[in-house]
Amino acid sequence: MVETTAYFNADVVIIGGGIAGLATAYYLSQKQNLQIILLEKDSIPNPNNSSYGDERMYRRMYSNEYLSELQEESLKEWKTLETQHDCQLLRQNGLLFYGEAWDEETIEGSIPGARRVMEKKGIPFEALNAEQLQERWPMRPKPDFVGLFESTAGMVWSAQAIELFRSQAETNGVSIRTGEETVSLNVISSDSVEIKTRSGNTFLANQVVLTAGAWTNDLLSSFTTPLNLEIWPMLWGHYRVEETLRDRFPQWFCFQQEKPDSNDGGLYYGFPCHTPETSLIKVGIDWCPPELRTKTMSTFVREPNSE
Ligand SMILES: Cc1cc2nc3c(=O)[nH]c(=O)nc-3n(C[C@H](O)[C@H](O)[C@H](O)COP(=O)(O)OP(=O)(O)OC[C@H]3O[C@@H](n4cnc5c(N)ncnc54)[C@H](O)[C@@H]3O)c2cc1C
Repeated sequence: MVETTAYFNADVVIIGGGIAGLATAYYLSQKQNLQIILLEKDSIPNPNNSSYGDERMYRRMYSNEYLSELQEESLKEWKTLETQHDCQLLRQNGLLFYGEAWDEETIEGSIPGARRVMEKKGIPFEALNAEQLQERWPMRPKPDFVGLFESTAGMVWSAQAIELFRSQAETNGVSIRTGEETVSLNVISSDSVEIKTRSGNTFLANQVVLTAGAWTNDLLSSFTTPLNLEIWPMLWGHYRVEETLRDRFPQWFCFQQEKPDSNDGGLYYGFPCHTPETSLIKVGIDWCPPELRTKTMSTFVREPNSE
């Protein structure tokens, strides 16, 4: 077989076609007259990346004030997108934080921390005790559980957002190349980077945007200090609920303290049923056993060793 090598020039090359790379392509293609190429090693959408799936939560209920403010800004952008493209990307169904109220931050924050930020910023919320939680939703709170409900939170239809960013970026002239894995980045000068891909192509760009998610260190480590990443495999599934409970599940996040001895991280989340014909809710675990955590994707495994 004869291999052919092609050369391409661009103002900007974006590496990675998850939601970050596609949103970058969309916004860059709108604001400036640039020649843009996006390289994705797999497909779009990509079942192996972090962006895959129908929905993602959005909230202002953070323990970190900056994240709460960032959410407020991004919500304006999501609403502008909906108006500009006449589509629905958001569903404002509220979010329930419930569980133990110990005052220590987890990867998702904490109930007391989120309450402090919402009080300080004047974000409306309801505070509930275990009895009130049980009356209102079909969860089974322990007696010491408390809850916070932020009615202005909700979900982004992320698969639809990905398709919107992809199609609009292409319409605006972005060249999106799937199956094109970047294998090396070579900084030639302050405004010139050479990118080589596994298929033998070479791209010369004035600027590179690296949106490779969990794979970032695999590319960075050849020319700069890698980021201090910890990569976790994440597990979620769809569960059928009784028909009578179908419309009663909220979007929720449950906080309990980690119990390392029983391999229980204590953090769980769920989405309400939005397919009435199937009565399915989505439930995920926001934790992974320490032995599955890695620094780079080259050592990543999706399942523990069966032995
Ligand atoms: C199960 C789960 C639930 C989540 N829930 C929420 C939520 O409710 N709310 C929320 O805000 N966030 C949530 N997140 C986080 C959010 O989904 C991620 O932060 C986001 O999707 C990251 O997008 P990304 O584009 O940076 O990375 P990715 O989606 O991982 O995309 C990176 C892409 O780069 C490509 N790539 C990598 N290396 C190369 C290379 N060498 N050459 C070419 N292409 C390459 C990969 O193939 C991949 O497609 C969740 C994440 C997971 C996994």
